[in-house]
Amino acid sequence: ERERLDRLRHTPAVTLDGEVVELLANIELPGDAPGAIEAGAVGVGLFRSEFLFMNRDGELPGEEEQFEAYRRVVEGMRGLPVTIRTVDVGADKPLERMSVNELRHEHALNPALGLRAIRWSLSEPSMFRQQLRAILRAAALGPVKLLIPMLGNTSEIRATLEALARARQQLRESGRSFGEVEVGAMIEVPAAALIIDRFLEAFDFVSIGTNDLIQYTLAIDRADEAVAHLYDPWHPAVLELIRRTISASQAAGKAVSVCGEMAGDPAFTATLLQLGLRSFSMHPAQISVIKQQILRADTRRLGASAAGGRP
Ligand code: PEP
Ligand code: MG
Repeated sequence: ERERLDRLRHTPAVTLDGEVVELLANIELPGDAPGAIEAGAVGVGLFRSEFLFMNRDGELPGEEEQFEAYRRVVEGMRGLPVTIRTVDVGADKPLERMSVNELRHEHALNPALGLRAIRWSLSEPSMFRQQLRAILRAAALGPVKLLIPMLGNTSEIRATLEALARARQQLRESGRSFGEVEVGAMIEVPAAALIIDRFLEAFDFVSIGTNDLIQYTLAIDRADEAVAHLYDPWHPAVLELIRRTISASQAAGKAVSVCGEMAGDPAFTATLLQLGLRSFSMHPAQISVIKQQILRADTRRLGASAAGGRP
């Protein structure tokens, strides 16, 4: 069995009809990189940088501390691409102190709809630029992509790209070395999926965050046990938003992946392949089981039922 798994790890993920599929890892800490390689990931599709910010009493990590963490991941991935997502705090991922200045967000009425992720970053501009500078500097050491969570409208897109331009400018002025990054958006707010063409004009790639896309499409709090039975990835509205995002991205010639839990759940592999997805990012422990699904799949034979919903 061990030998079989060893072999599987080095087998590329290709369907029976020759479709090549990219299997990437979701990681949360710099020390997770070796495990991702061990699991056979061909890169990191989602580094949830917020875990550097959580569970600490005092200061948030500054540029240097973040740079060290990103450097470790980039070096740990040995030349494979690393997608670093800017902080996604708030809601299910609270900070000890939600503001650099005070505790003003502690009592958000509805934290999932509140100041989280990019909204929080844009409300803390100097903190945001520190993070962007740390990521750009890490990009000098290996292939790095930058991923922005929870964008919903074009003014947030503009403000994000302006912050990035300023971060680059600051690095140039200080004479620090930094690298180029591809910039991508998480598609996890239904509004983003519905204006996907605007996102595709502005970004190099997109990554679908199904955990939040389901939550916001169905108005079901992903952390609330009382409505957990209504949290339904098979809901046709969810599948339709995923379908549109994938097909619009392909039409625009932009890379698209899924990095929510659906990507690592073998119950959805055939459906996602059927919808045209060729890049999946998941917990490293799921890679071998998803790879086995892919090795067995024939995309020419995936019936209409797969895209039609629940099996
Ligand atoms: C998602 O929403 O699907 C996602 C990958 O992000 P997170 O689970 O960190 O919110
Ligand atoms: Mg999310």
